[in-house]
Amino acid sequence: MTDVLVVGGGLAGISAALELQRLGRRVMVIDRGAQLGGKAGSTQTALGSFPTGPTSFNGRHPSFWRLLDLLGLSDEATKLKPASSSRYIVRDGKLNGLRPSPFSVLGTGALSLGDKWSLAKEFLSPSPARGDGNDESLEALLVRRFGQKTVDHFLSAVMTGIFAGDIRALSAQACMPALVSAEKEYGSVLKGALKAMKTPESGARPGLYTFAQGFGVVGARAAERLKCSLETEIEAITIDAHGVTVIGRRKDETVEFHSASLVVATEADLAGTLLKRSMPETAALLSEFKYAPVTLVQWAEKTPGDSKLPLGFGYLTAPIEGLFALGTLFVGDLLEESPRRFSTFIGGALNPARAALSDAELLAGTQADLTRLTGGIVGQVMQVVRWPRAVFQPAVGHAGQVARLQASLSGGRVALAGSYFGGAAMKDALVSGFAAADQLQQRQQVPLTLTPALSPLRREREL
Ligand SMILES: Cc1cc2nc3c(=O)[nH]c(=O)nc-3n(C[C@H](O)[C@H](O)[C@H](O)COP(=O)(O)OP(=O)(O)OC[C@H]3O[C@@H](n4cnc5c(N)ncnc54)[C@H](O)[C@@H]3O)c2cc1C
Repeated sequence: MTDVLVVGGGLAGISAALELQRLGRRVMVIDRGAQLGGKAGSTQTALGSFPTGPTSFNGRHPSFWRLLDLLGLSDEATKLKPASSSRYIVRDGKLNGLRPSPFSVLGTGALSLGDKWSLAKEFLSPSPARGDGNDESLEALLVRRFGQKTVDHFLSAVMTGIFAGDIRALSAQACMPALVSAEKEYGSVLKGALKAMKTPESGARPGLYTFAQGFGVVGARAAERLKCSLETEIEAITIDAHGVTVIGRRKDETVEFHSASLVVATEADLAGTLLKRSMPETAALLSEFKYAPVTLVQWAEKTPGDSKLPLGFGYLTAPIEGLFALGTLFVGDLLEESPRRFSTFIGGALNPARAALSDAELLAGTQADLTRLTGGIVGQVMQVVRWPRAVFQPAVGHAGQVARLQASLSGGRVALAGSYFGGAAMKDALVSGFAAADQLQQRQQVPLTLTPALSPLRREREL
């Protein structure tokens, strides 16, 4: 029995729970995994740590520092080493380097002369945004600004790296809000992006960061600071005038929890299934949200240099290149560790069936790509990580869906959190978690009483 139950202990659930605890509420986090952190975790192997989800975070989002401060982890965040600043885009079957500098953009083979001209034109001769202000697909926005060829060969690779999605279906407003407002304000998304980089939000720190011990340190520290029930799969949620009852299974036991309020911080469609009986309208809206599946093949060099991959952050490939994988992150290079370790991303919204292939087929595809790109070998495969719901896919009109979802909650005992409130990234999960805590805190002005004797399971037992 507690004040607030948080079902789902990913970044959204952790940030909600820590904030509610800071505000003086008794909180319990429940997750079906063996650790907190959700997708943002890491696994230690004999050849070093591999991230199970994200590898690094951008310090310009203050929500990361808010979370890390609550966990006492801000000093553990380490800036990526300079060796990882080179990124690669596959063009015509070759890896083309790109560094974060305007001179690198001029010299790279990742962009054709025509692409460079279209980037320069977008920057130098601003043109007004569309008049209607309606949401559009990410592809429509990018093609309007840069032309189809630049999108097909370059920008779709970059976007695949972020969303593993289909840019024809993704919402421009949800995925790239900064570009949409930059176009409106400056008539140029590049100009706006550059301005935004020069005027960071308060609480921001420049640069990309990771953790020497791996991302799993976040979930591990959260588990020390929060009361939690791990390896507990929630199967039913009942909400009535007396309180919230959450029923699940831990190992072979049925477990039951009671609280005055609830944060549901699982993936959207799973939240919909859990809330179907008590909140059918909210559940129906949640079931509309979709995710792209991604499977990771994580491997290390057997002998130094046998991958023949250059040092860097990783490479991405556009669908037009026809490669097997979406790209590979050079996870060992972020902190210049050896042996060099890699995480190859397979599947996504355009190739969901590929993510479900057998381990042997995934390895064969990963090797075929490497043979084509560098002639190197996939040394030692350490693990395959499968995420059927890897990355949320905000569809065109996403903001309207979120507004309807929030309206359906209207001041009750339940708040929702998850990356699906924004554009699928970690920062969206964090922002939504802190917002859920604020919502419940505000609603606390109306006292919510808890009558545990009315729990359905107990009632059944008593009968
Ligand atoms: C391979 C990969 C790479 C990524 N890279 C990046 C990146 O570079 N940058 C970035 O910003 N984002 C990245 N993301 C996305 C990022 O990981 C997510 O946006 C973020 O972690 C989502 O957090 P969340 O709390 O919303 O959801 P999740 O992490 O999915 O947490 C949901 C939690 O709910 C639990 N749960 C579900 N159902 C139940 C149930 N019935 N009972 C109990 N518990 C339940 C799950 O176990 C899970 O822990 C990546 C994702 C993947 C998969």
